[in-house]
Amino acid sequence: MPEQDPLATSHAAIPPEPGDYAELPGGILWIRLPIPGALRHINVWLVPAPGGWFLVDTGMRTDEVEAAWLTLEPKLPLATGLRQIIVTHHHPDHFGMARWLAERHDAPVCMTGEAGAASTAALSETTEGSVQGSDGFARRFGIELDEPMTAILRGGIYRRIVSGLPCIERLEAGGRVAGADRDWHVSVHWGHAPGHACLFDRQGSLLISGDQVLPRISSNVSLYPSNEDADPLGEYLASLDSLAGLPEDTLVLPAHGPPFAGLHGRIEALRAGHGLRLDRIVAACSEPQPTMEIVAGLFPLQRLDPLNRLLATTETLAHLRHLELQGRVRRESSACGLRWLSG
Ligand SMILES: [Zn+2]
Repeated sequence: MPEQDPLATSHAAIPPEPGDYAELPGGILWIRLPIPGALRHINVWLVPAPGGWFLVDTGMRTDEVEAAWLTLEPKLPLATGLRQIIVTHHHPDHFGMARWLAERHDAPVCMTGEAGAASTAALSETTEGSVQGSDGFARRFGIELDEPMTAILRGGIYRRIVSGLPCIERLEAGGRVAGADRDWHVSVHWGHAPGHACLFDRQGSLLISGDQVLPRISSNVSLYPSNEDADPLGEYLASLDSLAGLPEDTLVLPAHGPPFAGLHGRIEALRAGHGLRLDRIVAACSEPQPTMEIVAGLFPLQRLDPLNRLLATTETLAHLRHLELQGRVRRESSACGLRWLSG
């Protein structure tokens, strides 16, 4: 959810103009593609590879993004060839144009097995199945969804903003992706999306972080019908621990916002933000609380659009689920419905 963070340090790189690209250390080309909503852009990266390039992430499938790619393609030095398309995770702003680009450039799409399975599941979900799943989920967690929020949770939107399912080659944790004169190491992370891949270039101290670490907002960490028995916040915090092992001088290339230095400080700020939110929930639940009261205590629901109201709700659920597994809060059924209680 959006949260300004004064500790985030922006790199001095100048963002590319629409329809153009900017060159970064290591010869990496920075491209920004439009997405609807407050995020406005996703960054995708064209990275020098043996005999050509590899692309990391692809943009959401919209007419605007298709037009942006058609404007960019003649300007990009792609004569040597696009060797592979790496997609960090299955969310539509990352995966949306994968099939379209794969077909145009005859390049394989590479994702982790979990990310590939998540995209396949999202594309094949039936409306009937998702209605049953979301209704039961709402009941079990005591959430109240208005009609626009329900429509988003019930799915169907994903298919409209993704260009289809490409042939997917498997990206493995601990594997390597060949750059022009160095290897990129693949790490796999959880909490934001299943099997989220990051790429680290040890020689250049460069991390392509996708949505796992962002400079200006915290990555959305949500409980959904698909992961309601898991602990996505616990998984996300563990992922931050593993990324904290990278060198302090790492330059992070995130999917949203500018490249930034100061990875360790950013990770500390993210940990502190989640810790504060957890403590606030525990304090609020000293008296039994309905779920939506807890959400409203953390987020300005009245000022948010339906997507962000849904994300505020599912993100609060991820925090409640984490606290429940830690034994810090518990669910109780009462005549008035489900309540959360600390202790
Ligand atoms: Zn994402």
